[in-house]
Amino acid sequence: MSELKCPYRKKCGGCQLQNLPYNRQLSFKQVKAIKLLGKYCHVDEIIGMKNPYHYRNKVQAAFCEKGGEILSGVYQSTTKSIVPVDSCLIEDPIADEIILTVRKLLKSFKLRPFNSQTNKGFLRHILVKRSSKTNQTMVVLVTAVKEFKPASKFINALLSRHPEITTVVQNINTKYNGLMLGDETSVLYGDGYIEDILCGYKFKISPKAFYQINPTQTEVLYGKALEFAELSGKERLLDAYCGTGTIGIIASKMAKSVAGVELNPDSVKDALTNAEINCVKNIEFYEADAGDFMVEAAAMGEKFDVVIMDPPRAGASLEFLRCLVKLSPEKIVYISCNPETQSRDVSFLTRKGYKVKKIQPVDMFPHTEHIEVITYLTKII
Ligand code: SAH
Repeated sequence: MSELKCPYRKKCGGCQLQNLPYNRQLSFKQVKAIKLLGKYCHVDEIIGMKNPYHYRNKVQAAFCEKGGEILSGVYQSTTKSIVPVDSCLIEDPIADEIILTVRKLLKSFKLRPFNSQTNKGFLRHILVKRSSKTNQTMVVLVTAVKEFKPASKFINALLSRHPEITTVVQNINTKYNGLMLGDETSVLYGDGYIEDILCGYKFKISPKAFYQINPTQTEVLYGKALEFAELSGKERLLDAYCGTGTIGIIASKMAKSVAGVELNPDSVKDALTNAEINCVKNIEFYEADAGDFMVEAAAMGEKFDVVIMDPPRAGASLEFLRCLVKLSPEKIVYISCNPETQSRDVSFLTRKGYKVKKIQPVDMFPHTEHIEVITYLTKII
C-alpha cells in the first residue's frame, strides 16, 4: 500500500501520526504498548490494516460561514474555529461526498449554519453513519432550532444525489453543552437507524448508540478476544460495557448464557433489538453503571465464568474491579482503547489473584495516536 499524503495535515490535527509511514506508526504503537503493559507479559505484534485508509464509518462535520461562503470541516476546540475539510483520508468517501452535498444544498435552500456568536442560524453539525457491508447510510442533521420548513424538498434533493442514503434524522440541539447530539430526535426519512454486519451477525446502529468506527478491525478485535476466551458452550459470560451488545451476541452461540451491561439507554435498546434480529435467546441486557451492576451481582452471589470488559478511556472504576475480583471469573478479557488506564487496572487485578496470559494490540485507528489493546488474564488457583 503506498502512503497517501493529506492536504489538511498541518491544520486539522486529527491524525497525529500521519507524518510516519504506516509500518512506523505500528512500531510506535507497539513500543507504547510494551512500555505500558510489557511488565505483565510478552506483547504480541500489533495487528495493522492492509489498507489503512477510509476506514471510519462514522463521519461528522461542523459548519460555519466565512465571507458569504459556507464551510464545513473539523471543529477545533483550541482555536474555536473550523478547519475546512472536503475529503479525509481516513473517512468513508461516500460520507464525505454527502457532507459536501449538504453544504451545497444549504446555500440553495437558504439555510444557514448556526452561529454561536449571534445565536442565529439552523445547522450545527452533520453526522453520517455508513455500513459498507449493507450500503445503508444514515444522515443526522443536528440543528439549533426545530423548525425545518423545507425538510421534504431538502431531503428529496439530497436523496436524488445520494440514493444510498436510507434514512435521514433531525436531531435538535438547542443548548449546546459540549455534546454534539441533543435530546430530541425526529426521523425525517426511513427507519431512523441503519444496519451493519459484523462476524456474520446483523447490528442496528442508531444515531446516539455507540458503535465501533472501524468495522474491518472490529472483526479482528472481536475474533482475537473470543479466541482468548476459548468458550466451550458451558460458560456464563458477562459482556461489560457492552454498547449495542455486539461482543455478547457474537459470543452467544459459544456460551451457555450471556449478560450484557451498559449505561447508555439508546445502546441498550439497540442491544435488545440486536438479540432479537439475530434470534439470540440466551442473552439478557442490563441498563446500569457497570460498577453498580457488579456490586449487585457480587452481593447476590452471581457467577460468571468469563468476563469480557471493554470500558471507555477512563478504564474501570475501583468498585467494578473490586467486585470483579469478588465474582472471581476464571478468565477476564480486557479490551481497552487506553492502555494507560488498562495498565492501572491490570496492575490491580494482578495483585488480586490474576495473571496476564496474552497481550494483543490491534490498530483500530490508523494514523491517529490511539491504541487498542486486548489483555487476557486468568485466575491463579
Ligand atoms: N463493547 C462495545 C462498546 C465499547 S465502548 C463495542 O465493542 O461496541 C464503551 C461502552 O461503555 C460505551 O457503549 C459506553 O456507553 C459504555 N459505558 C461508559 N461508561 C459506562 C459505565 N459506567 N457503565 C456501563 N457502561 C458504560
